[in-house]
Amino acid sequence: MIPNNNPYIHQVKLPAGDVNVYANPELFAGLDYKVFAMANNNLQIPGIRYMGYTPDVHVGVGTCIGTTAVWDGEEGYVSPSIVGSDIGCGMRVHLTNLHRDDLKEVKLRRKLVKTIEKYLPMESQQRGHFSDLRLENVVSKGLHGLQGKYVPDSYTPKKSTSLTHVEESRFKFDENVLNNVSDRAWHRGHRQLGTLGGGNHFAEIQALEIAEENREIAEAWGMYDGQIVVMIHSGSRSWGGGISQESNPAMIAAMHRLGLGTADPKLAFLPLSHPEARHYVNLMYSALNYATVNRHLIAYAVREAFRDVFGSQCELRTLYDLMHNYAWSEYRGEDTVFVHRKGATRALPAGHPGNPKPYMETGHPALIPGSMGTSSYIMVGLPGGEDNYYSICHGAGRARSRSATKRLVKVDEFASSMKVGTDDEIVVNQRSLESILDESPQAYKDVDQIIESVTGAGLAAVVAKCQPLAAIKG
Ligand code: 5GP
Ligand code: MN
Ligand code: MN
Repeated sequence: MIPNNNPYIHQVKLPAGDVNVYANPELFAGLDYKVFAMANNNLQIPGIRYMGYTPDVHVGVGTCIGTTAVWDGEEGYVSPSIVGSDIGCGMRVHLTNLHRDDLKEVKLRRKLVKTIEKYLPMESQQRGHFSDLRLENVVSKGLHGLQGKYVPDSYTPKKSTSLTHVEESRFKFDENVLNNVSDRAWHRGHRQLGTLGGGNHFAEIQALEIAEENREIAEAWGMYDGQIVVMIHSGSRSWGGGISQESNPAMIAAMHRLGLGTADPKLAFLPLSHPEARHYVNLMYSALNYATVNRHLIAYAVREAFRDVFGSQCELRTLYDLMHNYAWSEYRGEDTVFVHRKGATRALPAGHPGNPKPYMETGHPALIPGSMGTSSYIMVGLPGGEDNYYSICHGAGRARSRSATKRLVKVDEFASSMKVGTDDEIVVNQRSLESILDESPQAYKDVDQIIESVTGAGLAAVVAKCQPLAAIKG
């Protein structure tokens, strides 16, 4: 249906095909030519039906972060490059029954962060807190593999919404592929269950500001102004990392045998029917299960800390859990399509049959992080997202590399955006801001511009802004 005369929607014609870019004119003008070179490589994969970029698009390995790429559900192709290395990485939000006034004291925010650290195992720790779980159950059955243990949002599994308020509670696949997973991968995967992981993964305490125009939806979702929420960003840790690492060379070797390739020799892809592709898809689904359970367990740990600090009446209702690095089959009318999202978030509108039941009437929450010193957002999809397969941004997107950030950003600037030394200080768990300088707000693009691009293009609308109060980095 594209194009129309919306200045936020750009159909870019490249030698190998078209890529739709959703961005305001300023962001669009600032895009690096490399993102288009990368699109052109990806468009050379046979049978591609559609490719789109969200406004936070930036260069990644083989494929840009911010890509939606679609093939036929049966005769199509799969590419690990368009899933990304952190398979199943995604977002989760829990709604508390606390108000931001309950966390007015910096001292209390510090105490909460310290308590969360007590329950939430950190990257450096050698052993997870969930060692009684069987990893085999987790990766093969997803949330159902927990068998009612570690419910993050109620005392009894029956009252929990964590199995219903999720993009997918279990990915089914041919579990025979698990037989070839090394002992080392099983061991590490088990140890890392319920851990954030390093980099930009986080658990953050935020306060909501409801968007006036969508107050009705916010209320239907149980949200109110000043409400304290917990936002979680994590993925499949070394379980998914290992799968990505091993699949790429195996698939590239198979491509050579078939005489397949693009201008980028590192871009891996195969027809869905190829045994090596099926192997990857099966393992990828195990990692999607891992990632979803991982965020669920992180939420459980955070809930334990909240109860320690605020008492047992403190609730942490699951708002939603969804992914931004994955590929799977979706219905498009009567058609089945194989949709890849790499650094892109699904945002379905009201009434779309792909919504989970509790969100059928409103559309489901789409959870968009910004940075630890700026707003994050909770959005809802609009019908206008159809052309982009209902994909929106997955964050602000990096503005500069980690090394460039460390070189260019001063600790003082970072401290002032974290309001250090004031009553409103955004408390972090790390000993020094210097050690996480590469994660400062200055490392990322302006999230408000990204969100304005998404709303301006008619892909989704803002339901609430989330203001950071405290951040825990893995
Ligand atoms: P990615 O999935 O590509 O690793 O990162 C997703 C997004 O998370 C980034 O583009 C950035 O906007 C956001 N982000 C990174 N660190 C933080 C943080 O500490 N807090 C919040 N709220 N967002 C963050
Ligand atoms: Mn992520
Ligand atoms: Mn990740």
